[in-house]
Amino acid sequence: MSLKYTTVEHIQTGYADLRKSFQDKTTLPLAFRRAQLLQLARLFQENTVSLSAALYSDLGRHKLEVSLPEMGPIISGAVRAAESLEEWNKPEKPAVEEWRSSWDTTIYTTPKGVVLIIGPWNYPYVTTMLPLIGAIAAGCACIVKPSEFNPACAQLLADLFPKYLDTAAYRIANGAAAETTALLDLKWDHIFFTGSGRVGRIVATAAAKNVTPITLELGSKSPVFIDAGNTDIELAAKRILWGKQQNAGQICVAPDYILVPRGHQDAAVEAFKKAYKTFWPHPKGALDPLSEMGAILNPHHHARLMELLRRTQGKIVHGGNAEGTKRIEPTVVVNVGLNDALMEDELFGPIIPIVPIDDVDEAIQIIRGRPVPLVIYVFTDNEETKNKFLESTSSGTLVLNDTFTQLGVHEMPFGGQGESGYGSYLGKFSFDTFVNRRSYINVPPAAEPFLGYRYPPYTEEAFQALSAPANIKIPEN
Ligand code: NAD
Repeated sequence: MSLKYTTVEHIQTGYADLRKSFQDKTTLPLAFRRAQLLQLARLFQENTVSLSAALYSDLGRHKLEVSLPEMGPIISGAVRAAESLEEWNKPEKPAVEEWRSSWDTTIYTTPKGVVLIIGPWNYPYVTTMLPLIGAIAAGCACIVKPSEFNPACAQLLADLFPKYLDTAAYRIANGAAAETTALLDLKWDHIFFTGSGRVGRIVATAAAKNVTPITLELGSKSPVFIDAGNTDIELAAKRILWGKQQNAGQICVAPDYILVPRGHQDAAVEAFKKAYKTFWPHPKGALDPLSEMGAILNPHHHARLMELLRRTQGKIVHGGNAEGTKRIEPTVVVNVGLNDALMEDELFGPIIPIVPIDDVDEAIQIIRGRPVPLVIYVFTDNEETKNKFLESTSSGTLVLNDTFTQLGVHEMPFGGQGESGYGSYLGKFSFDTFVNRRSYINVPPAAEPFLGYRYPPYTEEAFQALSAPANIKIPEN
């Protein structure tokens, strides 16, 4: 499938059209937003087959791995947002002091304006559409820029958008770095970027020129700690392997490396081997023609991963095989050191390095010594271990006893910290990303008796009266 790139001229005229629509308040009525959100849900529900086929064409991904992490969150997310519009947009009336009670103090939510969403290739629908749901619910106009590495998905989105959504307000722009640069040259009211830290920095720099607020959803090395002795190792290995083999490990929230007390490393390996056999009982395992394991994006990434396996000082105890330049078998590597090739960057592939450690305290020390990850995974039934991770580590999310589960939970924010990015989304948090909170006060003439002291000429009596808030008694500790 070839992808038709949007010309720079079309990018600029499209932006101008959206700016006009926003100024004309096209996107403002809640009825319009509701209709567009429901249309987005219909777009995904009525075209599930072709959207799944496009992802299969781009990444060899089985339809179950499209339905669970992409279709479900998008369709249910759009419907939930449509049903929540009234509540989310309701002006808030904060409690204020009695003497200000007649001032009509109100907090309004107002759409930020015309916004840009830039997506990565690994989860092309969910990483662009979940933010878009927030943008529509907020009343923004939006251009979505999918990754050029998903030619089939990106082209299909470009074809379907005008059939379902109002193009006066929502458009797809396709292209690579040059087209994204043309987009970044325009003045946006918010930029929502998902992708690598390298390009994230380019986006942040472009946004800074216009003081544009941004959200950065970046990658990281998300660690796993198996509290062997306090958890069912076989269940842990099964859940880790499941999370790791999704999309062939090309996931921002993939469990990246595994910290295991050294006396339990062999047991962990046996547990991974057992789980592997139940997932791929075929003669050639995960590389068998009957296996549903997804493909590595392209020969370049395939070579990158195979080179890492060549460079590691750890020992490959399971897997290590590849199918041409397409698939790589889930591969377990033991005795991986902290300075190993496998510990340099986000792996983004089906490699499972096991780093043997002394205990939970060493696990925490290692995690704290590295950039703040998107997610930390801990397998334990022990309350003390759980609390140690809660109190002594940082990450966007802390998941106990599972992997790769969060995108379906609309009630919690999803996003990074530190080098894994900033800002968050999902459900109401996506809406919050694309609105400003506008404070409104109406000070009536009848308030004049309360305001008399503030006017010149200043007096000592006025100073004493107006200093009352600064002179309140501070409570004991
Ligand atoms: P990428 O940063 O290479 O590309 C992302 C987008 O930026 C694409 O649309 C691309 O066209 C554009 N782009 C590329 N080069 C550019 C340039 N020089 N100037 C302007 N725009 C440019 O990322 P990717 O390879 O598509 O995605 C993989 C990365 O995304 C991984 O690091 C992964 O962890 C991360 N990711 C993060 C999340 C999250 O929610 N935190 C989700 C999915 C992926």
